[in-house]
Amino acid sequence: MKPSRKALLLDRDGVINVNHGYVHHPEDCDFIPGIFSLCAAAQKRGYRIIIVTNQSGIARRYYSRAQFHAFSRWIEHAFFTRGISIQQTLHCPHHPKESGAFGFQCCCRKPRAGMIFRAQRRFHLNLSQSIMVGDSWSDVRCGQHAKIGKIVHFQDPLLVKAQSTPFTPNLYKVRSRDYYRAKSLRSITRLL
Ligand SMILES: [Mg+2]
Ligand SMILES: [Zn+2]
Repeated sequence: MKPSRKALLLDRDGVINVNHGYVHHPEDCDFIPGIFSLCAAAQKRGYRIIIVTNQSGIARRYYSRAQFHAFSRWIEHAFFTRGISIQQTLHCPHHPKESGAFGFQCCCRKPRAGMIFRAQRRFHLNLSQSIMVGDSWSDVRCGQHAKIGKIVHFQDPLLVKAQSTPFTPNLYKVRSRDYYRAKSLRSITRLL
């Protein structure tokens, strides 16, 4: 069987788990409704599932890289128990305004596309056939820099204190620019 070359590239905080701010313990991890069904559907359709996450909490010394990795293994295991395999969790530990080993301007912190290109090299991804889901503008811009086929700006109105937009559909394309907006993770299944 020809290996699949498309990926579902997921931001972590605000897409997989509720962004309570620098989450790094299982006790603080609330999975966002729909994430497992979206990933299961994507896996079934041949997408590799890859996490790409900015973790400036490491540069800020809120938690160590080892703590981050331990938490990542825990998250990956939570997916594994639901039959979903996370191919890799890529992270950027840097922040340009911090001091110390991780305090510099890197090329992996989103909106820069370094993590995407690393995943592309490792898994020989076809980025134009891939989908990126993130809850912030840096994710959208990162996806645009990397020329990812479908970019989804996801914000669950129940989780984000966003302006109320009661009449917009769950998923729609922003025509002026080339990305989608989604209010639920399940609705993204339609793009697979
Ligand atoms: Mg996020
Ligand atoms: Zn970085």
